Amino acid sequence: QRSERMKSATEAKASNLADTLVPFTFAGSLLSFALTRNVTRALSVLMVDFSCALKLAMPLAVLSAMREAGREHITVKGGKFLEAVAKADTIVFDKTGTLTKGVFQVTAIHPEGVSQQELLELAALAESYSDHPISRSLKEAWGKALDTARVGQVEELSGRGVRAQVDGKEVWAGNGKLMEEIGLACRPSGQVGTVVHVAAEGRYLGYILIADEVKPDAKEAIAALKAQGVKKTVLLTGDAKDVGEAVAQELGLDEVYTQLLPGDKVERVEALLQETSSKGKLAFVGDGINDSPALSEADAGIAISDGAAIAREIADITIAADSLWELVRLRELSMALLHRIQNNYRFVIGFNGALIGLGVAGVLPPATSAMRHTLSTLAVSLHSMSALPISKPDQRS
Ligand code: ADP
Ligand code: MG
Repeated sequence: QRSERMKSATEAKASNLADTLVPFTFAGSLLSFALTRNVTRALSVLMVDFSCALKLAMPLAVLSAMREAGREHITVKGGKFLEAVAKADTIVFDKTGTLTKGVFQVTAIHPEGVSQQELLELAALAESYSDHPISRSLKEAWGKALDTARVGQVEELSGRGVRAQVDGKEVWAGNGKLMEEIGLACRPSGQVGTVVHVAAEGRYLGYILIADEVKPDAKEAIAALKAQGVKKTVLLTGDAKDVGEAVAQELGLDEVYTQLLPGDKVERVEALLQETSSKGKLAFVGDGINDSPALSEADAGIAISDGAAIAREIADITIAADSLWELVRLRELSMALLHRIQNNYRFVIGFNGALIGLGVAGVLPPATSAMRHTLSTLAVSLHSMSALPISKPDQRS
């Protein structure tokens, strides 16, 4: 049942068509008997049937495409998602960890009333239980072991930061939105980069500036996706306006929405789904940290990089590589598969239709029809299992 749902629409259509054609094959056989009064001719219609070729070749084509994807470290949960990728005319990207490396480096520490070391240690302690790329960079910048016994209750505030008990004190670390929520004024940094503000016991203690880098092949990959026919590329981020807009500009993305909470990302995806054409699909590419609801909302949710474990659960497709180029390969593979399925379809209908015609006309005896029918089914199936015609990895750009 589950696998039925995973079937691509095209695959399902072929299978349904195969079923609907069966009664027609019988009717055709009876009709040709009625018309020709010739048992042999009537039989030749029965010898040829569309269903085996359609039912065998289509799943084989999908399976071999999935196997090929596997070779590129891409895991696909069903043929339906390959079809969605092939038809995607809108691709929505998450920023941190998806278009950027998600490897933040602390570039400046601006304390107020405490030392730089104290500010960094406090932030690292507060973030010690978080898996967010920002947290990892703070812990790395601190460099020393953290005494997690000093950390009490921790709450992750997705898209904003964390709240934690450190040495019994209430500590907040996060973006401007979080400071606003707790009613603290924070100075704008005036520099492009992600800012982690730190406050303890209702007192503002300063901020830590961290910079993230765009992935080296991101720009090239996005241009390639557009060349493949993707009409709209969108950036969704929880990060600040200036950071989001700078990245979108650098990568040539069409639209950008910033300062979004995970729920806002889902709403955006829903709105964008409304805007896609009736035949077009929407793919969401994220790393699963703060974006898993959006991953499951899209027609195809693609998790890239090692990401969060939850992303692998929720995503329809998982790319186990950091390179965005894999996305281009995935789309190429999906389009080649769709093309093959459509070709198979035409061939099966055309060839078997001709066999029936020749059988009814009395040109081919039933045995010959049956033989050719079986051979053609085998041929289509074998062809479906062969490698798809896509470029080799080294042929990029
Ligand atoms: P993106 O949408 O770019 O992937 P996220 O939704 O993960 O980003 O986070 C959005 C913003 O929320 C970050 O840019 C940061 O300002 C803040 N934030 C989220 N988690 C944390 C954290 N653990 N510590 C500090 N700030 C955080
Ligand atoms: Mg992210």
